Amino acid sequence: MRERIRERFDFTEAADDMVTFADSEREAAWRREVREFIQKEAPKELLGAGELGEGAFFSRLGAIKAWRDKLAQKGWIAPAWPKEYGGAGLSVVEQFIMNEEFAEAGLPANVGGFGVTMVGPTLIVHGTEEQKAEHLPRILKGEVIWCQGYSEPGAGSDLASLQTRAVRDGDEYVINGQKIWTTGAQFADWMYMLVRTDPDAPKHRGITYLLVDMKTPGITVRPLTTLAGTQTFNEVFFEDVRVPVKNRVGEENRGWYVGTTTLDFERSSIGSAIGIRKNLESLLQRAKEGKDASFARSPMLRYEFADRWIEAEVARMLSYRVVSLQARGLIPNYEASMCKLFTSELQQRIANLSMHLFGMHGNIRNRASMGYMMSVAATIAGGTSEIQRNIIATRGLSLPRG
Ligand SMILES: Cc1cc2nc3c(=O)[nH]c(=O)nc-3n(C[C@H](O)[C@H](O)[C@H](O)COP(=O)(O)OP(=O)(O)OC[C@H]3O[C@@H](n4cnc5c(N)ncnc54)[C@H](O)[C@@H]3O)c2cc1C
Repeated sequence: MRERIRERFDFTEAADDMVTFADSEREAAWRREVREFIQKEAPKELLGAGELGEGAFFSRLGAIKAWRDKLAQKGWIAPAWPKEYGGAGLSVVEQFIMNEEFAEAGLPANVGGFGVTMVGPTLIVHGTEEQKAEHLPRILKGEVIWCQGYSEPGAGSDLASLQTRAVRDGDEYVINGQKIWTTGAQFADWMYMLVRTDPDAPKHRGITYLLVDMKTPGITVRPLTTLAGTQTFNEVFFEDVRVPVKNRVGEENRGWYVGTTTLDFERSSIGSAIGIRKNLESLLQRAKEGKDASFARSPMLRYEFADRWIEAEVARMLSYRVVSLQARGLIPNYEASMCKLFTSELQQRIANLSMHLFGMHGNIRNRASMGYMMSVAATIAGGTSEIQRNIIATRGLSLPRG
């Protein structure tokens, strides 16, 4: 049994530690360094904000900026980027420990936004020297906010059917069309986007990847209000928007392959697995000590807590599995889908538990009701549950496509 576990979760140095998932000496020292830095430098109003999701992120932009500056001074703003481009050059395990400690403190997992996680890594691989020199230093200093223009009203799960059109006119592309669900577009300085440049080619082959200054004439951003009453994402309209050809990343009509590059830079959802446990711990505290203490004797609630506690442990193990694959240089495939699917559906079950615990108080606007409404998005953003199940069924279980 131990051998099997060692084989699967091969990411600590000492053999026995692999079974308990304890840190090696070197890992423990790194964890202490990260923890001490958080205790000394993290703004107080940000501690715990990571568990509240995107809404809390955008309402605390001042504190986020202060924290981002501290991380930038330390060289930790882009943990996964190579050092030559100003990143921290951390190993997978070091990044994992850093994420764990940030999540443990309730800090947002990523203060650099899409610039650090998506467009920066894409430019490192596919950008021209001019594009790297223009954008990478500004991303690292936190001077620009980026948004992602992929989804359209008719293209989400089937992203390659996107229709926003870009037509070459001399040294420029002229863009017409619409994007939707664009997170943070109302605050963004730049967008990285996918456009259709060849409508006659097979759908994956007629797409191009462009960088667009959001101040360019012809762009209209219209915020969408979520069911929770927050405005985190938008519709973005393009009317004869002129973008220099030098803002194209990679070749024309090869944008699909550029757009999917960043997947390699993504890390496990350990942050959300720990966020889930912390959320559950604070609900437990409330059930034991708060106004609802007598309600905690109800068998239904006790069983719900027990089940969610077991599932939170399973979520942690699934994210360890993803990281152990990455630490061995492998790219997680259906394993990452299993992790995303289980974690996002668990978030919703915990939001249900929270509403049961709050009882009638769940009908007013508070942490429980907001969390319940916000959790709806968990199984849509980043690939819906059906898409994750399709991946697990075909790539993990080798079942034929439907
Ligand atoms: C909070 C949030 C933030 C987002 N931020 C961004 C952003 O910044 N930029 C951006 O570009 N996009 C963003 N999105 C959009 C997100 O990527 C899409 O919502 C997602 O890919 C699903 O696409 P869709 O909404 O068009 O739904 P659809 O793809 O139309 O799906 C509708 C339903 O059909 C099901 N379905 C679709 N295809 C299949 C299939 N093959 N088999 C079985 N069932 C299927 C889906 O599971 C779903 O239940 C965000 C979404 C959310 C919720």
